[in-house]
Amino acid sequence: LVSRELQAHDTVVDVGGVSIGGDRLAVIAGPCAVETPEQLHETAQAVKAAGATLLRAGAYKPRSSPYGFSGHGPEGLRILREVGDDLGLPIVTEVMDTADVALVADSADCLQIGARNMQNFALLRAVGATDRPVLLKRGLSATIQEWLLAAEYLMAAGNSQVILCERGIRTFEPATRNTLDLNAVPYVKGKTHLPVVVDPSHGTGARDLVPPMSLAATAAGADGLMIEVHRDPAVAMSDGAQSLYPAQFEALMAALRPVAAAV
Ligand code: PEP
Ligand code: MN
Repeated sequence: LVSRELQAHDTVVDVGGVSIGGDRLAVIAGPCAVETPEQLHETAQAVKAAGATLLRAGAYKPRSSPYGFSGHGPEGLRILREVGDDLGLPIVTEVMDTADVALVADSADCLQIGARNMQNFALLRAVGATDRPVLLKRGLSATIQEWLLAAEYLMAAGNSQVILCERGIRTFEPATRNTLDLNAVPYVKGKTHLPVVVDPSHGTGARDLVPPMSLAATAAGADGLMIEVHRDPAVAMSDGAQSLYPAQFEALMAALRPVAAAV
């Protein structure tokens, strides 16, 4: 179902009225996590003013340590919905557990399946059974074939609104958090009709690498970008080191305009 041999034309996924795929570069931006209503609102306002058309933030956070901040759950979803509605930004947020799929689908315009859950087949089946668009992140050490087969699970369960997200993979190189695989963008777009988004925030783990890799991803043909931005990265409860300052995000959006057909 994901194969370009079966469908030659590009799939365009509609997320709350915003197209992902097609001529315009879709920019999904926001903090790693919902922390407080003020933090989300202020950050969302800044990314919207700079030109982002979709808001991201996690209410359920997969953390390497069981002692890390794991998100506000249902209260985080409520804050997200309120801020999204207030600013007119569709929401992309992660769902980690099959038990939460219905609740997250109620609040979110697009369900994110995180890297760590790319091969959680029960979750893929459950999200595949919803009518919500899905952003499927590439697994930490997943091959492209495994990633496409995970997308196939979603489609086989009845959900054709699938967006792929390259977010870096684990390699032998420890200098950066992950190795952003930009080869994957043109390669995957040759294999599948599904739109491909790049997340240079998790792909690099370092905010100063995010603007150049955003430009590179766009030049490589990505249909969109997912970028972490925080109103005050120094106090972020997760992923502060890779979160852009609002002013940096604004400068990046300006730099993207000459590279993308339309932003
Ligand atoms: C995220 O988007 O905040 C996230 C946890 O991403 P990933 O699953 O790619 O690590
Ligand atoms: Mn994050």
